[in-house]
Amino acid sequence: MTSESHDSTGMLKMHRNEHDRGAPTRRHFLAYCAQWLGALATLPLANPSRAQAQRTPKPLIVASHPLVADWVRNLIGTHAVVHAIAQPQQDLHSINLHPAHLPLLRQAVAIVAMGLGTDAAFVRDCARLVPDTPRLALGDLLAPEQRLPRPTAVAPDHDHAEEPDHTPDPDHDAALEHHRHDAHSAPYDPHFWLDPERVAEALAQALPNLIVLIPSAQPSITAHAHPYLEALRALAAEGRARLTDLPATHRKAFVMHDAYRYLNAAFGIELIGIDTIVPHGEITPQRLLTLKARAAREGIRVLFTEAHRTSRVAQSFAERLGLTVAGPLYPETFAPPPGPATYLDLMRHNLTTIATALRAQ
Ligand SMILES: [Zn+2]
Repeated sequence: MTSESHDSTGMLKMHRNEHDRGAPTRRHFLAYCAQWLGALATLPLANPSRAQAQRTPKPLIVASHPLVADWVRNLIGTHAVVHAIAQPQQDLHSINLHPAHLPLLRQAVAIVAMGLGTDAAFVRDCARLVPDTPRLALGDLLAPEQRLPRPTAVAPDHDHAEEPDHTPDPDHDAALEHHRHDAHSAPYDPHFWLDPERVAEALAQALPNLIVLIPSAQPSITAHAHPYLEALRALAAEGRARLTDLPATHRKAFVMHDAYRYLNAAFGIELIGIDTIVPHGEITPQRLLTLKARAAREGIRVLFTEAHRTSRVAQSFAERLGLTVAGPLYPETFAPPPGPATYLDLMRHNLTTIATALRAQ
């Protein structure tokens, strides 16, 4: 897929890239869902009051990923049930819906996604399956000046050079939306969650929307949200304290996934994604030379492994380039115990790991 197009619902279809894998299987899935819904409609719903009674007594919020669910729970306390569709160790960029999720989606008072194109497939599927359920895309709540552009020097298989030039939408309050914001997500780097300050900002913007959706949750949100936003800002300050006094010669490293632009901007370091130079880890002598030259020129001595990517590829790069391996980092998944299981723990782990390795090199 190399060009944008609008489907019958007016939703913008995005380019197929690393953040949009599996579009053909989604088509099959949607066809499957249509059949499945048809079959459901023919079932006798013998006792509606019993069905009502079986519903959860608390409002249900569906989140795309456990990272998003963790934030929502911290904002709203126990006033709502928050259910994540993805598994804790699942990649944020490849969240697909299954027919078994439909009853859950139909009970939800709101659907919360990461936004900025991160979980675009999930958002689009929700728009088609439960079009009337309000969707809140957190990253889309960030003001345009808080978003970073997508990298321009990207690998050929996710080159966005042919994209039309979108003007950022100044009406970002409208991210509690139906069918509109996907179109404005494409030009931005989606990985805003690697800056806790930007997360705090997006969540602060989300609060009025949550209160509109669940008015009864207002006292709970008032009690819980402020301390959590403060904890996010304190974590950012803690990270800056660890990283800002590093010498200029100890501020750069390689990572496999080009996901760290927001983290770099927030903490004054430079983690450089190898996948912008070597897509899918396909090493050619020319690409290796490019990386080697850059490492020598910029004094790069460390390569961080990432939990959601195989460390074998990273190890192989490190050996060939003569770099020290550090990590793993958790840029977009939780970890099995005893790994981080909350966003605060995950970012604390990442910042501590980065600071320790950069200082020790
Ligand atoms: Zn990513």
